[in-house]
Amino acid sequence: MKVHNVEMVISAVKPEQYPEDGLPEFALAGRSNVGKSSFINKMIGRKSMARISSKPGKTQTLNFYKIEDQLFFVDVPGYGYAKVSKTEREAWGKMIEKYITARKELRAVILIVDLRHAPTNDDVMMYDFLKYYNIPSIVIATKADKIPKGKLDKHKKVVKETLQMDKNDPLVVFSSETGHGFDQAWAEIEKRMG
Ligand code: GDP
Repeated sequence: MKVHNVEMVISAVKPEQYPEDGLPEFALAGRSNVGKSSFINKMIGRKSMARISSKPGKTQTLNFYKIEDQLFFVDVPGYGYAKVSKTEREAWGKMIEKYITARKELRAVILIVDLRHAPTNDDVMMYDFLKYYNIPSIVIATKADKIPKGKLDKHKKVVKETLQMDKNDPLVVFSSETGHGFDQAWAEIEKRMG
């Protein structure tokens, strides 16, 4: 998709604030600092619409970006940030669970992981959580520009095996630096919009 028009519609703290357009939604989840904001910015062709590395773990809101009046990206606060208190972590969990289990507009969760390393325990927990609730997922393995071409397949295999990925969920190798995977990521999203 060629994106011309993006509107940050709302930073929602509770379900009553979610948009009522009925457009398909794709939620973006990932460990703090994994490259989620960079992914969003690359996909929407903006340099800094989604804040890059804004205080990890602090923003307990769901940020709704309306794209081309056709779909929403819903930016979920990053997880796995060590300095977040237990209370904050629980509030995060409740908010995500509420959104993910009750939101009929949600078409898929886009889970961002780092292609350089095996997914962390937090990544595995997040993916398990999505599968427990039968949420279709698209796994984006980013920072591919940091991996030599000859090693991409090996790293992909580690991601797939560590997450024990469902065969119906695609894994897209991506780089926000080079744009590698851009078309494939959009194709996987567009396939699930209807
Ligand atoms: P977030 O906390 O998940 O939103 O992560 P950010 O998007 O802020 O990225 C964290 C750091 O990783 C920043 O320094 C980015 O410049 C860097 N980064 C993000 N994506 C890529 C990528 O595809 N390749 C490389 N080389 N660096 C990246």
